[in-house]
Amino acid sequence: MTHSSDRKFWDEPLETQSRQQWGDLKLRLLKQHLQHAYDNSPYYRDSFTAAGIHPDQVKHLDDIRRFPFISKHVLRDRQLAVPPFGDLVAVPERDIVYISASSGSTGVPTASPFTAQDFDDWIDYEARQFWSSGLRPEDRYCHSLNFSLFIGGPCVLGAQKLGALSIHAGTVPSERLLTILRQFQATAIWTTPSYAWYLGETAVKEGIDIRNDLNIKRIFVAGEPGGSIPETRQRIESLWSASVYDYYGLSDIFGSCAGMCEEKNGLHWAEDHILVEVIDQESGEPAKEGERGELVLTTLKKSARPLIRFRTGDIVSFTSEPCACGRTSIRMQGVHGRLDDMLIIKGVNVFPSDVEAIARKDHDFTGEYKLIVERENHLDKLTVEVERAAAFHGADTELIARFSRQLQSITGASARVVILPPDTLPRATHKAKRVEDRRSGVWS
Ligand SMILES: [Zn+2]
Repeated sequence: MTHSSDRKFWDEPLETQSRQQWGDLKLRLLKQHLQHAYDNSPYYRDSFTAAGIHPDQVKHLDDIRRFPFISKHVLRDRQLAVPPFGDLVAVPERDIVYISASSGSTGVPTASPFTAQDFDDWIDYEARQFWSSGLRPEDRYCHSLNFSLFIGGPCVLGAQKLGALSIHAGTVPSERLLTILRQFQATAIWTTPSYAWYLGETAVKEGIDIRNDLNIKRIFVAGEPGGSIPETRQRIESLWSASVYDYYGLSDIFGSCAGMCEEKNGLHWAEDHILVEVIDQESGEPAKEGERGELVLTTLKKSARPLIRFRTGDIVSFTSEPCACGRTSIRMQGVHGRLDDMLIIKGVNVFPSDVEAIARKDHDFTGEYKLIVERENHLDKLTVEVERAAAFHGADTELIARFSRQLQSITGASARVVILPPDTLPRATHKAKRVEDRRSGVWS
């Protein structure tokens, strides 16, 4: 039975409108938002003026390309210059009710401020996104992400708004989390792909029968490129006998900017909140539909700190083909990697996610892997360590040949492949670190 209160999380007129209507809506929101930024943020007023563009002159969505880009460095620098939140902020501080902060792994943590309306808009969108992935008021949802300033924390409120029983578990030790899942018979959980994998392996080691002792039907994942790699999702799905949905969020905007519907065929975008561009990272020119490029985002509503043409550093591709679920929003076909993560081995681009796809697809490997980059005679050399599966009894040379051949055909790169016994590599919890860069003495 459908309750009348459920319907607001499936906004059919909005979510199934034509692409033309999406364009009209985004243009209307964009004009208002640019005007708000210009009127209230000293930074934007100056940067628009320096670029010779005024919000009045925007007639088409393509006019966004006349505005300057901003990067993470700009957010950090302006925050340091005008503490505590920087001069991209476009509301008085008394109107700010919440901040998240990015992890700070690359330097000073930058704050992302929200007004009460921004926060409500976000949580409404989370509820819509969860609904599209099949979460319902009957579910028991366990939120196993960090709550400490992390933008992923409050996403639990979207599940709660939708009416699901929401367990604010946070990042507790695995044994305790398994006890929670078992005791409350949780039907859904959100964590990172690495941790979903690790938690499943831990359950098996502890003698828990995942199918019978636990009741997980849906696993939401975000925070790592792994979630958009089909081979990684399929491995987690078969380990848990559950459906895995990839989500994508950004501390500088909000928790879920995109996520998979039940078709699991790309990540639908929150197009009524965020304008998407994909650009060639060198030239800045737009990439064609389906081509890989850097994701550039412009907020359309978030009033506390508008982001205009924010370069995310994420390499993505999109489709606007209709989805079988009926939603007409554009779908991201996955995050292929971060520019920061990309390795260049003898002139060939290699993303760790390419190596992951190979290690996870072939069941003669456990799926764990590590990349080591070294410099020898002024040339970068890549070593890939992979574990053989316990059930594999053939020769290591056979695995090496197979892995090398696939790596060569997918990336064009060659690497030294080292086969390790099962359970040799450290299991990653939460954000996985699987690249060791020995070129500069810095391990990343
Ligand atoms: Zn869909």
